[in-house]
Amino acid sequence: MPRVVTFHYTLCDPSGRVIDTSAGGEPITYLEGAGQIIDGLDQRLRAAEPGARQKVQVPAAEAYGPRDLTQVRQVKRSVLPVDGELKLGEQFQAGPDRSAPIVTVVAIDGDSVTLDANHPLAGVDLTFEVEILSARSATPEELEHGHAHGADGAGHCH
Ligand code: ZN
Repeated sequence: MPRVVTFHYTLCDPSGRVIDTSAGGEPITYLEGAGQIIDGLDQRLRAAEPGARQKVQVPAAEAYGPRDLTQVRQVKRSVLPVDGELKLGEQFQAGPDRSAPIVTVVAIDGDSVTLDANHPLAGVDLTFEVEILSARSATPEELEHGHAHGADGAGHCH
């Protein structure tokens, strides 16, 4: 029976740099196996009980996948949908479509700009420091919807 789990996390890269954290904000609530969090973390928290604090390591292959070099390409500065100065590390949507990938500027050489469409965490092994706040059985409604309805299971409008 899948559970609905609520947790706080701090996410670090292999050098120990904090990439993201829920500390001081809302915890995350997810339905197990529903794809609401990365699968590699979901799988490793299946036995975690409320109150547990644990370090969970998820290799890149089970997180955002390997970095795909075919997703890195050079374009002319003039074709980019960005006004003003372009900066290294800047991110923008590659096209007008909402589903267009987010690209990151990884190099600028005169009029030539190198863009990387990989997820910023592709190829990065992740370490999560997790604190499980609660875990309960999913309700039939949550199973039908395929997502969690918050820590208390309150429903919502569709
Ligand atoms: Zn729902």
